[in-house]
Amino acid sequence: MKIDQFPETIRPHLIPKPSGELIYRCLGCQAEHSIESLLYTCPDCGQVLLIHDRRFDRLKALSGETWQQILDYRRMLKIPALKGIYRYHEFIGPVIPLDSVVYLGEGHTPVVEANTVLQEKTGMRFFYKNDGQNPSASFKDRGMASALSYIHFLIQEGIIDEVLSICASTGDTSAAAALYAAYLKPDIKSAVLLPHRKVTPQQLSQPLGSGADVFEIPGVFDDCMKVVEALADGYNVALLNSKNAWRILGQESYSYEIAQDFDYAMADKVVVVPIGNAGNITAVMNGFLKFFDVGIIDALPKIVGVQSEHANPVYNYYSQTAGDGRRFVPMTVKPSVAQAAMIGNPVSMPRVIYLVDRYNRVAGEPRVFFAQVTEQAIMDWQLTANRNGHIACTHGGESLAGLEEALKNGWVNAKETAIIDSTAHALKFSGFQDMYFQDSFPEGFAVQPKPALVNQPRYVCPAHLKRVPEPGKPMAKEDFATFVEAVAGQIAGDLGLKKR
Ligand SMILES: *Cc1c(COP(=O)(O)O)cnc(C)c1O
Ligand SMILES: [Zn+2]
Repeated sequence: MKIDQFPETIRPHLIPKPSGELIYRCLGCQAEHSIESLLYTCPDCGQVLLIHDRRFDRLKALSGETWQQILDYRRMLKIPALKGIYRYHEFIGPVIPLDSVVYLGEGHTPVVEANTVLQEKTGMRFFYKNDGQNPSASFKDRGMASALSYIHFLIQEGIIDEVLSICASTGDTSAAAALYAAYLKPDIKSAVLLPHRKVTPQQLSQPLGSGADVFEIPGVFDDCMKVVEALADGYNVALLNSKNAWRILGQESYSYEIAQDFDYAMADKVVVVPIGNAGNITAVMNGFLKFFDVGIIDALPKIVGVQSEHANPVYNYYSQTAGDGRRFVPMTVKPSVAQAAMIGNPVSMPRVIYLVDRYNRVAGEPRVFFAQVTEQAIMDWQLTANRNGHIACTHGGESLAGLEEALKNGWVNAKETAIIDSTAHALKFSGFQDMYFQDSFPEGFAVQPKPALVNQPRYVCPAHLKRVPEPGKPMAKEDFATFVEAVAGQIAGDLGLKKR
């Protein structure tokens, strides 16, 4: 739809212009720092930062209802910069001009309602939000679109040049970082650090294919993160981990999309997300808080953060009684099928503590919950979901297992509707499905395949056949007819088909 066809009251607001005043705000000492240099932690006290808009209250000049209309009409525009996360420009990057925006097709991922079979199994109505349908097949593209659009802006303004972007990764961050950096060639070069053998072959293929410098390091993600922090502290590089507060801003789009997709009715909604480095749950909480503050939504949805019992430092923190005695204890992780969330010392923990407190205070009651689930439950729920038409990754299985816990504990009830985050595409983690189907999980995982969920290909090549098709070796007509008949016969027998 063309702009002059929109209602006149909406027209002036349809195309966002830079109008915010963003600063980094320290979660430790509250100091504010200019966004003109790339900062990841507070130069005064070393704590993590969040980006704050000093002029945020200007957005309240319009009613929540008007904002809803602006966002809904914006959906009809054909401007590439507004097709992705920057549909929510005023909330995500209100200093970035639209021609600095990098759009590679991220965001606005489908919400797919679970079928009756699955809703009966779980005991409530729910939708998967398929963030695996982002360009690099995980939600990390949301944060990268934001971080790289900002870096692109700084380059265009001549504030920085020749950027080397760097990140540590459990696989998906590096895939996204390498993809977006490759698009901004030659201004940006990218390097990624991965824990050796702790990312899937599909994930490893992604930064390699995008042309990044890929380094593999012994240990787990937490060890890679330390090396990357040493590089970011000592050298002139742009850090793309979620320590970078621009990543958080972009990932807030997940909440804005849920609000918009459910017509801004959030009172009876439950949003379930897996937790690793805790950047995602930070963004999800912050996003809903901002929309609530402006009146775009009139209630905060419940949020359930889920961790595997093999990597559960956030869960452990919140299972202690609230108060001064509560301590965050980093842990050494054990192998997990939710491999992208296998993190023992989440960088965003201070953000989580700050935002959970604020979220519950603003809501006037506890609305954020933390569940822990077994490796077995993660696999069983992932496979069950996918046998009912979904494309959930193991973390999507983890989320669904978390919903089951939330129902069991009475945090949510059957009258509510859940939106479950499948953070990546099933294909990235198909190796774990193979292990389940072949009963070949290394001991550390403690997963026992349930026969009803196992599936294997069956090779059909009847023994009596003298000749079967081979590339480059044409068969005699009769031999081929014999082959087709024998194979069809065996498959029909296997499937118990009746003759017509
Ligand atoms: C990164 C990632 C997570 C964990 O998200 P955090 O923001 O680190 O908590 C979960 N699932 C997938 C597929 C991921 O790539
Ligand atoms: Zn500080």
